[in-house]
Amino acid sequence: METYYILDASAFINGFQLETKNNLTVPEITAEIKDFESRLKFDAAIEDGKLVIQDVESKYIKELNQIISKSGDSLRLSGPDKKLIALALMIKDENKNIKVISDDYSIQNVLKIIGIPYSGVITDGIKGVYNWKKVCEGCKKEYPDDYPFDDCEICGSNLFKKRIKL
Ligand SMILES: [Zn+2]
Repeated sequence: METYYILDASAFINGFQLETKNNLTVPEITAEIKDFESRLKFDAAIEDGKLVIQDVESKYIKELNQIISKSGDSLRLSGPDKKLIALALMIKDENKNIKVISDDYSIQNVLKIIGIPYSGVITDGIKGVYNWKKVCEGCKKEYPDDYPFDDCEICGSNLFKKRIKL
């Protein structure tokens, strides 16, 4: 079964990689993505058909308000946060496999209560799969990340760490 990802603003700001076309967010999130780079990625995702902006039926917002009035999370959540969680309730109601991508602790806490799976971009390291290697400043020889020395065995120059995408 395909998984639908519901993306918080932090997913874009922290660099979540959109691998499939099953990515959803709510209109209110748009205003939260202010920095230039995240904005570019956000707009490109919409243009590529990888991101759908989906509004939420009011009954799911009511359902959420009932849940959080009991848990005490109501005050910690912003309007867009609530809308995003309500979207998760709505998609779950369609019997789809969902996962919410958010680094916001208040959102994660409510999702835990409702029983909806989530991941953070930073906390769970899902920012694409990266690895590190060491590279020589001088001759550019590459060493594995666990190479125990800080200088090059060929030319003696310093090694620097470089992030590589797998
Ligand atoms: Zn070298």
